[in-house]
Amino acid sequence: MGAATLYQLAKAGAKVVGIDRFAPPHDQGSSHGDTRITRLAVGEGAAYVPLVRRSQQIWRELEAQSGEALFEQCGVLVMSSTEMAPALHGAADFVATTIELARTYGIDHEILTSAQIRARFPQFGPIRDGAVGYFEPEGGFVRPERCIATQLAGAQALGATLMTGATVSALKPEGDAVRIQAGDRTLVAGKVIVCAGMWSAELLGEPFSRLLKVCRQTLFWFKLAEPVIFPAVSPSFILVHGSRETDSCYGFPPIPGEGSMKIATEQYAPLESIETLDRSVCQADADEMYRAQVAGNFAGVTPELAKARVCTYTVTPDHGFIIDDHPALRNVTVVSACSGHGFKHSAAIGEAVAQRCLTGTSEIDLSAFSLSRFA
Ligand SMILES: Cc1cc2nc3c(=O)[nH]c(=O)nc-3n(C[C@H](O)[C@H](O)[C@H](O)COP(=O)(O)OP(=O)(O)OC[C@H]3O[C@@H](n4cnc5c(N)ncnc54)[C@H](O)[C@@H]3O)c2cc1C
Repeated sequence: MGAATLYQLAKAGAKVVGIDRFAPPHDQGSSHGDTRITRLAVGEGAAYVPLVRRSQQIWRELEAQSGEALFEQCGVLVMSSTEMAPALHGAADFVATTIELARTYGIDHEILTSAQIRARFPQFGPIRDGAVGYFEPEGGFVRPERCIATQLAGAQALGATLMTGATVSALKPEGDAVRIQAGDRTLVAGKVIVCAGMWSAELLGEPFSRLLKVCRQTLFWFKLAEPVIFPAVSPSFILVHGSRETDSCYGFPPIPGEGSMKIATEQYAPLESIETLDRSVCQADADEMYRAQVAGNFAGVTPELAKARVCTYTVTPDHGFIIDDHPALRNVTVVSACSGHGFKHSAAIGEAVAQRCLTGTSEIDLSAFSLSRFA
């Protein structure tokens, strides 16, 4: 969110400084792990559709400028392997909401019966009778680290300053401006946009510390069987394969040359404190992941772990975003808490937040993400 906002502000001609406690792209927050799903019919709700649409355009613009491959349009397949209505990201029936939005917004899609899923995507299974699939050809995945690096390089080329390895410890009003304490440096800015991910509550206090929970996520890459059975040309997917809340996972097609496939679940147990985040993944975790999510659901994926990473979701009570003014600190805007589904929207969020910061309003309506809904 910070990289996109910095880039868009610099593009609009603002004098802007990006401050980060690490050196993005890094693997300490919520934006690492090679791939993020993007889909246009966003089951999380209609307010997100213009953001993801615009983001896909911006990724293509950035690709043309930089020569980097950022967005792989391999399609996305959302499916249940049984008859149930799966709940995800705050939507009671995620597949039904996705289909409804695709119809409302004229998003190209196909609804697949269980027989059609079996015939067209035999790599997933077993798909039982009564299951339903949603295939969106314009979806796929983006490369988060490359998107961040490309936007930061673009911002710097347009005159933005980047201060890395500098932790912001305090924001205080100074007349009409804001005083920023970043390590041993003090800056005074007309406006501040805080995109601090899982550290938002720590920096901003109430009401964010009451609203936000940080949840540990683990990403697994399992090696593919030799000879390779799982096809290289395959969509990103979300698979609900049982009736329990834990019976769902998502993943990506194998990245050419890597010989492995990334598959993950979503966890909503809150961390007691972000200081206690365990970034290690043990073999027992990988074995349990394979047993519960992978075995029998994907053709040609072995239990052998290629790599694993720990990442975090910063989640609001309704799983929606918060993009709003800080209620107590004038000229401070908060952009974060993207509840585990933010990357696909990030390029357009950066553009809309930059417009809002410079002109007071944005072309894409951000009112659905206001803090007042939690009052
Ligand atoms: C495992 C996983 C899978 C996901 N899958 C998807 C997906 O498939 N599709 C999708 O759209 N989204 C997905 N998401 C969500 C998406 O990746 C996040 O919403 C998004 O990347 C969050 O970006 P952010 O800028 O809010 O946080 P971050 O990327 O964590 O950035 C916060 C930055 O703030 C800096 N910072 C924090 N505090 C300070 C401070 N005090 N001073 C200076 N710097 C500070 C940090 O160093 C960091 O660089 C996933 C997330 C995870 C964890």
